[in-house]
Amino acid sequence: NRQIQLVSRPQGEATTDNFKLVEVPVPSQAELADGQVVVRHHFLSLDPYMRGRMNDSRSYAEPQPLNSVMIGGTVGEVVASKHPKFAVGDQVLGMGGWQEYSVVDANVRGAIHKVDTTHIPLSAYLGSVGMPGVTGWYGLVKIINPKEGETVVVSAASGAVGSVVGQLAKARGCRVVGVAGGADKCRYVVEELGFDACVDYKQHNDPKSFYAALKEATPKGIDGYFENVGGMILDAVMLRMNAFGRIAVCGMIAGYDGQSLPLANPAMILVSRLKIEGFIVSEHPEVWPDATKELGGMVASGKMKLRESVADGIASAPEAFLGLLKGKNFGKQLVKLS
Ligand code: NDP
Repeated sequence: NRQIQLVSRPQGEATTDNFKLVEVPVPSQAELADGQVVVRHHFLSLDPYMRGRMNDSRSYAEPQPLNSVMIGGTVGEVVASKHPKFAVGDQVLGMGGWQEYSVVDANVRGAIHKVDTTHIPLSAYLGSVGMPGVTGWYGLVKIINPKEGETVVVSAASGAVGSVVGQLAKARGCRVVGVAGGADKCRYVVEELGFDACVDYKQHNDPKSFYAALKEATPKGIDGYFENVGGMILDAVMLRMNAFGRIAVCGMIAGYDGQSLPLANPAMILVSRLKIEGFIVSEHPEVWPDATKELGGMVASGKMKLRESVADGIASAPEAFLGLLKGKNFGKQLVKLS
C-alpha cells in the first residue's frame, strides 16, 4: 500500500517537498479486527480544502498531523471484510486518504457508504454527486435561493463545485454567468454546460477591464453570487449586485497560499442590502438526501454534465494537487489508483 504523507508545513506556497511517498503493508483478512474492512481505492479526490489542512493556523478544520497519510475522499471496492454489512466486491465511498488501500472501522457511523453505480459512474460520487456537488447545491438552494429569471454568477465556473452551481441554476430558469480562467474553460462552460455567458478573468486581468466585461454579461445586474475565489472577482461582483442580492461564500481560493484579500467595496453591502453568508458543507449533513437525489437524478439522466481531470497513480497526487490550486485542472480533479 503506497501512501502520501504530509511531512512539513508550507511557508507560503505549498510544494512537493511537503509530501513524501511511503509504503506500508496491507493487512490480510486474518489480521482484521471485528468490524474492519479493507478498501482498494479506485479514485482519490483532490480538493482545495486540503491546502488549509496543511497549515496549523486557526481554521474551521483541524490541521492534518505531520507524518501521517493525507486526508482525502476515496471511492473503491471492498477486498476484505469482517463486517456483516460489507462484502468483498461492494463499491464504497469513504475518507480513505491519499493511499491505495485503507482499513476502515465500518462500525463508525458514516465511515464508509455503499454506492450504486448502475446509472452513476463511481468517480461521480467524489464530484457532482458527492461533496463538491452537495456544496454547490447547498450554497445555491439554501443561501442564494434563486427565482426564475434572476441572474446568478459563479466563479471557478468550470470546476467541480462551479459547474454544478451553474447547471442547477439553469435548471431553475436563471440567467447564469460563469467566471473562469482561460478561453477553453469559458467556451466549455457556455457551449457544453449551457451557461448564458462566461467572463475570462485572465483575459480581463485588471479590475476595470474585468468589471466592464462582467457588466456586459449581466445587463440586469446580479441577484445571486456563488463565491469560490475572492479578490478582484468579488470586488467587481459587489458593484453589480442588485438590491437584496445574496452571496454564498463557499471558497476564497485566491488566498489559500496566504495572500491577503482586502474587500474593495464593503459599502455595497449596505447600499444594496446584501445578504452574505459563508458555509461549510460538512456542517449540513441534513441536506444530503435532497441534494444527492436531485444531483444523482440529473447525472443519471444526462442533464448534469461532468468533466474530470484524472492524474495517474498515487505518486502523481502531490503535483496534481498543486496544479489544482493554480487552475491546471479542468473539471473535478481525481487521481486514478487501480
Ligand atoms: P475546482 O475544481 O473549481 O478547482 C479550483 C479552481 O479554482 C481552479 O481550477 C481555478 O479555476 C480556480 N482558481 C485557482 N486559483 C485561482 C485564483 N487565484 N483566482 C481565480 N481562480 C482561481 O475546485 P472545487 O470545485 O473543488 O472547489 C471550488 C471552491 O469551493 C474552492 O474555493 C473550495 O475551497 C470551495 N469549497 C468549499 C466547500 C465548503 O464547504 N465551503 C466545500 C468544497 C469546496 P480557473 O482556471 O477558472 O481560475
